[in-house]
Amino acid sequence: MYTILCSKCWSVKEKKADICKICYDHIGIEVDDFLSNTIQILNKNNCHTTFCCSGHVNDDGRFYIAFDKVYSFKNDLPKLFKIENKEDHIVIRVSDKELEIKRTIPEKIDFVAELNKSIYEWVKKEFPEKQPEVLFFFGDR
Ligand SMILES: [Zn+2]
Repeated sequence: MYTILCSKCWSVKEKKADICKICYDHIGIEVDDFLSNTIQILNKNNCHTTFCCSGHVNDDGRFYIAFDKVYSFKNDLPKLFKIENKEDHIVIRVSDKELEIKRTIPEKIDFVAELNKSIYEWVKKEFPEKQPEVLFFFGDR
């Protein structure tokens, strides 16, 4: 499932076509629930993202966050994540080796949740000042 975020101020919207109550922008972006907090913090801190995927269990969706240009970060990425340098932008990905490990469905569900939790912990550390609205809980594990 996904959360709809305003494309301008990154607050949460109920419907894609709704006018944003904060900035009156009318464009809504669908972000995978698992990544909604992380994407909100990044963009509110002027690290603009273009596309992302939280990773999916049932298809081949793999975790990534693509950015509009090259950014550098203060903190190292969590274990299993790496930065791919493209010509004019960067992509944060989980290393392929890690994804090739065979997992059962319940293991995959846990793995995807853990990945998204660890990148969220990282982004909170990277940008401690602007925290997100609380959107999504990973639950106590
Ligand atoms: Zn807005």
